[in-house]
Amino acid sequence: MKPLFRWLLDTVLPPTCLACDTPVEKEGQFCVACFKSANFVSAPLCRCCGVPLPFAEAAGEMQKCPPCMVEAPAFTQARAALRYDETARRMILPLKYADHTEAVNGLAELMRRPGEMLLQAANLLVPVPLHANKLRARRFNQAALLAIQLARLTGRPLGLDSLVRHRETAPLEGLDLAARRAQLEGAIDVRADANVQDKRVLLIDDVMTSGTTANECARVLLAAGARRVDVLTAARVADPRFEGLALA
Ligand SMILES: [Zn+2]
Ligand SMILES: [Zn+2]
Repeated sequence: MKPLFRWLLDTVLPPTCLACDTPVEKEGQFCVACFKSANFVSAPLCRCCGVPLPFAEAAGEMQKCPPCMVEAPAFTQARAALRYDETARRMILPLKYADHTEAVNGLAELMRRPGEMLLQAANLLVPVPLHANKLRARRFNQAALLAIQLARLTGRPLGLDSLVRHRETAPLEGLDLAARRAQLEGAIDVRADANVQDKRVLLIDDVMTSGTTANECARVLLAAGARRVDVLTAARVADPRFEGLALA
């Protein structure tokens, strides 16, 4: 339930666009201008990690990006609604630092289409965990909010506390693969009382950057007996190498 002041505000002020202050008809919508500037992830993309590719040939016969060809991730498939650009950032950043929970509903709605097959097949929706210190600072885990809303929309079972983050990790941006893995080593685990045995798990997060965190979550879930792990995020960072190709 909304706090009273919130309810009062909503009755006075019309809902605004997820990404700017333009009034819109319903909560959780984009205004026309932002909808046009939103970069939805579209084909061609890597069949495995879902990274947008500059042209279909870049995926090769296997329809996989070069990194996935070299080493398949622990998860089977990853899909995202938006490319992580300026518009996506405006939508997602407030989730982390403020109580803009209405944006959660709009983002979850956007995630339904690219995630339709994965959501249908999932036995368990599991958010990527935050460390308790971060959780205290932010008051909520934005990945958990998205997972709760997706479970509500689709009726899929929710494993809110299936994963636990034992320690805080430094930001992974700018680190190479080996350094990112070293950062995450032993940081994430399946909670002892979580039942993931033989489950098809769908990991939920707000942004997928390199995929290293999702990969580590998938690895521990599979080690704990999960049958398959997929990933669904609101946005994903496109591989700069492919972006370069797209410009060339
Ligand atoms: Zn807008
Ligand atoms: Zn890939």
